[in-house]
Amino acid sequence: MKVLVMGAGIIGVSTAWYLAKAGHEVTVLERGEQAALETSFANAGQLSYGYSAPWAAPGVPIKAMKWFFKKHAPFIFRPDGSLFQLQWLWQMYANCNKRSFAVNKERMVRIAEYSRAMLKELEAEEHIQFEGRQKGILQIFRTDEEMAEAKADLAILQEWNTPVRLLNSAMDCVEYEPALAHMAGKLAGGLYLSEDGTGDCHLFTTKLAERCAAIGVKFLYKHHITEIRQDKCLIKGIKANNEWFSAEHYVCALGSFSRPVLKQLGIRIPVYPVKGYSLTLPIADETLAPVSTVIDEKHKVAVTRFDQRIRVAGMAELSGYRIHLPLQRQETLKMVVNELFPASYDNHQTQFWSGLRPMTPDGTPIVGGSRFANLSINTGHGTLGWTMGLGCGRVMADLISGIKPEIDCQDLSLARYI
Ligand SMILES: Cc1cc2nc3c(=O)[nH]c(=O)nc-3n(C[C@H](O)[C@H](O)[C@H](O)COP(=O)(O)OP(=O)(O)OC[C@H]3O[C@@H](n4cnc5c(N)ncnc54)[C@H](O)[C@@H]3O)c2cc1C
Repeated sequence: MKVLVMGAGIIGVSTAWYLAKAGHEVTVLERGEQAALETSFANAGQLSYGYSAPWAAPGVPIKAMKWFFKKHAPFIFRPDGSLFQLQWLWQMYANCNKRSFAVNKERMVRIAEYSRAMLKELEAEEHIQFEGRQKGILQIFRTDEEMAEAKADLAILQEWNTPVRLLNSAMDCVEYEPALAHMAGKLAGGLYLSEDGTGDCHLFTTKLAERCAAIGVKFLYKHHITEIRQDKCLIKGIKANNEWFSAEHYVCALGSFSRPVLKQLGIRIPVYPVKGYSLTLPIADETLAPVSTVIDEKHKVAVTRFDQRIRVAGMAELSGYRIHLPLQRQETLKMVVNELFPASYDNHQTQFWSGLRPMTPDGTPIVGGSRFANLSINTGHGTLGWTMGLGCGRVMADLISGIKPEIDCQDLSLARYI
């Protein structure tokens, strides 16, 4: 079947890969000059299968209120003038209870674990080099209060059979991340998830796009989609760069921009662009750098090690679609890396970046069909698109091919909001 995939981020490229492997004739329309130049470009690099959980959790609204008044707040709210922003926040708030958390978490773990299996399979077949590391993820705590919360998190992780170790002292943390030794006096302990990994999402996506092209996927870069043509219950074509493209089936994988494009068809998806920031720094002294990812619970910032670089990423800002780079956010990221891993990086070559996480209010992505028989949606991966990309790509391709996916996906489609 002829399939047109909209978007070449981690989600679009993963979908294209599995569609092509299933024998479909695939074309990808992408406005960038190459794959993964938007949200999949410089994320925190965590393959956080163990940490797959919705942000909407019991207690989060109270924490968010406190963050309002902090200088280096992990959560920032700026009214964007839309009713949608408020509706989305309300929907998220409505998910901040024990029952919804359990439902959403189960869905996310289901997808993440499937994604883990897909990455393992792909690595064995394709040997893609993406500066990947399998050295676990360490979350560090400074206060007894944070440790008490960690114990509650530990119970949830254990309930989901996630391999996790509670570290009761700073020295236990230093065992996994030796460069934190100078912080010993400031740390109360940590949580260590041994089975989580790290890797560069941009590198992976561009290399997977090359593999896709090698098996026949056609990438049309610098093609900006502006219009979709419909006829009753079928999509008839997509307009990009003033040219119409048609196929038998269409997949929307436009990340945060899926919502404005689908709105043209009267499809309203609750996906808000939650902005995050990152800094990428070349390593100057390996002995002072992290080994894997360290998550600083106080600031909710992750510091991740790639081969010769460190990526510092975090913050959740609700301020619309603007990707401008306020200096104050850079200061927050620098403050964290300077405290945890001082002198580990070259301060003269920093790359500051922002990206828009395509977030649903329940944290679970939208993977499934739509009211148009030949239009599928694969978006809304929020904070975990790198972690969940391959699994969702495979599920999407199976659904389009008429094959029963290997995981239950009935509750992943847009229908769950109706
Ligand atoms: C600061 C930060 C840290 C993060 N850390 C992690 C992490 O550690 N682990 C993890 O799993 N996830 C992480 N994420 C989330 C992850 O990066 C995203 O979930 C993922 O990149 C989303 O991929 P996507 O393909 O849906 O979107 P995108 O990568 O944005 O891809 C969508 C594509 O559609 C194209 N497009 C959009 N509109 C149009 C149009 N009109 N015409 C043509 N093309 C169009 C864009 O150019 C883009 O290439 C992080 C995100 C941020 C911002």
